[in-house]
Amino acid sequence: MKRLLGIKASPGIAIGPAFVLDRSHQKVRKRAIRESRIDHEVEKFLRAIEKARDEVEHIRASLGSDKAKELSTVLQTHVMLLHDEALKEDVIKIIRNEKVNAAWAVSKHIGRFNEMLANLDNEHLSSRIADLNDIKSRLLHNLGVDARVSRLDEAPEGSIVVAQDITPSEAAQIDTSRIIGFVTELGSRTSHSAIMARTHEIPAVVGATGVLQDIQHGTRMIVDGLSGKVYISPTKRHIEEYQAKERAFKYYVTELLTAADLPAETRDGFRIAIEANIESPADIETSLLHGAMGIGLYRTEYLFMERRHIPSEEEHYQAYRSVAEQIAPYSATIRTIDIGGEKLFDAVDLPPQRNPALGLRAIRLCLSRPYMLKDQIKGILRAGIYGNLKIMFPMISGIEELKRGKEVIEECARELKKDGIPFNADIEVGIMIEIPSAAVTADILATECDFFSIGTNDLIQYSIAIDRANEEVAYLYDPLHPAILRIIKMIVDSAHAKNVRVGVCGEMAAEPLYVLMLLGLGVDELSMNPIAIPAAKKIVRSSELSEALEIARKALFFGTSDEIEAYIYRVMSKRFPQEIASLVF
Ligand code: PEP
Ligand code: MG
Repeated sequence: MKRLLGIKASPGIAIGPAFVLDRSHQKVRKRAIRESRIDHEVEKFLRAIEKARDEVEHIRASLGSDKAKELSTVLQTHVMLLHDEALKEDVIKIIRNEKVNAAWAVSKHIGRFNEMLANLDNEHLSSRIADLNDIKSRLLHNLGVDARVSRLDEAPEGSIVVAQDITPSEAAQIDTSRIIGFVTELGSRTSHSAIMARTHEIPAVVGATGVLQDIQHGTRMIVDGLSGKVYISPTKRHIEEYQAKERAFKYYVTELLTAADLPAETRDGFRIAIEANIESPADIETSLLHGAMGIGLYRTEYLFMERRHIPSEEEHYQAYRSVAEQIAPYSATIRTIDIGGEKLFDAVDLPPQRNPALGLRAIRLCLSRPYMLKDQIKGILRAGIYGNLKIMFPMISGIEELKRGKEVIEECARELKKDGIPFNADIEVGIMIEIPSAAVTADILATECDFFSIGTNDLIQYSIAIDRANEEVAYLYDPLHPAILRIIKMIVDSAHAKNVRVGVCGEMAAEPLYVLMLLGLGVDELSMNPIAIPAAKKIVRSSELSEALEIARKALFFGTSDEIEAYIYRVMSKRFPQEIASLVF
């Protein structure tokens, strides 16, 4: 048996035979072209591009359902790339200068580009490799090379697809009645194949380096999309263990979902708001399905990812209006862009920084480029007419930044008024508390805003001084560090003294083990990945506030995270065995 740890991309367990998607036969032969045939070769290439555009448009048109919106966006990127004049010119230049066949020129140009992207070590940019490979396969196919873009069609029923990556157009055509899971060597949680897996609710692990070694068609495997583990040729014991996990997960999906619409209210009548974290207006449908009572965090930087340019005020407005209308009567908290750090996007040109997590990022970047922030704020204020929107600033380190952010809001409101554009001036303003200096000065910050949302992902990173993306120090990334619990308590107390509400929107909120502890620490709202909502609600509904207070009191008392974890695990797994076992996502 071999075990690999990749990135959990889509929850659930799949146990079955592998279907290896092998593209090694895509080798393209280099052929010299006579001078007199060069124009013909260029023509051939241009026809291949046109045909590819038609094909992608055709796939998009046939997607139909609302659930396919995200894939449709991905395919839109392909259409854009196929319209890209630079790509066309570069390939033609290779054909003409090197006097070679079009297929070779395509392969060389895209291959060179992909190599550059891969070397950048940038999660977002490397997800573009899948787009380019998809286009390459399609163009090669249209140029007569057997690129076999549709090999997935051959996967037998019940297969787990194993591939270097799954291209977006393959994803669009995937037959979910036959494929029960997939594992890829490349990719991240935000890569297209991961998005596709979540859209189709197929258990998946991406970034599983080495999975293609030692695997053949039919090799038995387990894909654990809840933890990112992949087992190749698992033992009987592992199969049995995972069959039990699969049953537990199915329980989660069927049982918990039926009660997802009920409020998150303890047995003694204490209510907490449970909301969803989203990255696109297309995520609202699934958020509502899982019982979200609002959007606690809209990570708007993903608007920059979908585009290759900085979104205009109009594009911001359209996205937020769609969110406001879909989520009404609940509210949606729009976080202003949090670009920088590990989140880099083509659209925003950032200078190289020696220490990006501590550099020009989020609100700092926005305040240094106010035109970018102003377009976004105006979009939010205008969309605010159509529902209940709130503005939230990320990475606030002190009161001056908050005041400057608020000044920008006032300036935007003045300009919209002067231009006679309708907008909602009465929008709540809040901040993320994710930097220790903000936590310590929460009492001061509370005088200038309506709500706090604790971003535990970054708060833990900055408080314990560990890079959240560095596997070498991942063992130190500990939400139950006594310092973290004390900081959360301190933030809540400072906020409540000034009547300011406090939410938690980092991954810590999505962990069923911590729900009662956070409630007991006084948190008013939890915002999480939609899929985690039903379990959190069930835990709240089955408990009394007094239990939550007792759990928080005891957790604060222990001096080590091991003691805290052992205690929380003991209490929670006894009370909620299925919720704890079924969803650790
Ligand atoms: C956080 O830091 O906890 C958070 C929610 O923001 P992000 O993960 O987008 O940095
Ligand atoms: Mg953050």
